[in-house]
Amino acid sequence: MAKRDHEFEEEKEIFREHIQKAGLRRTAQRDLILDIFLRTEEHLTSEDLYFLVHREDPSVGHTTVYRTLKLLTEAGLAREVRFGDNKTYYEHHFKHEHHDHMICTECGKVLEFFSPQIEDLQDQMADKFGFRPTHHSLRLWGVCAECQTAHMDSPTAPSGAQPRVKVRTNVSA
Ligand SMILES: [Zn+2]
Ligand SMILES: [Zn+2]
Ligand SMILES: [Zn+2]
Repeated sequence: MAKRDHEFEEEKEIFREHIQKAGLRRTAQRDLILDIFLRTEEHLTSEDLYFLVHREDPSVGHTTVYRTLKLLTEAGLAREVRFGDNKTYYEHHFKHEHHDHMICTECGKVLEFFSPQIEDLQDQMADKFGFRPTHHSLRLWGVCAECQTAHMDSPTAPSGAQPRVKVRTNVSA
């Protein structure tokens, strides 16, 4: 469900403060980019976000979108995530619970999951090595349930090979 605009007041305030600290001006374009980012519950590349922003205001350039995404990341509103296709995706970070990802190498679907057991095991492993983890990103590549049913006889990549990934989002850039 799309949230009402006023529900993003806290996020907008955080962004305003960050912009100010960075010595930048608040602009209508940056506000629009933030707004569209907050309204889109997706894993987005800067190209995807540019496509969405451009639909509402064709005067916004790609560089502005890219720089604003960097600002959103610095401000803790967005986080970067990679799925193995050499692209950087951004997802909501503020007030979003930690989760990990499964990426379908057939259709590019990205599934989110969270397992307290896996999280505990990771901490235990880190402890064992005297390692102090600051963050992690657990990603599983494979074939989703739908794709398994769709092509039962599709060949699997040789083990050790880098999976070919073509991530699919609902944004058609
Ligand atoms: Zn995790
Ligand atoms: Zn799939
Ligand atoms: Zn995610």
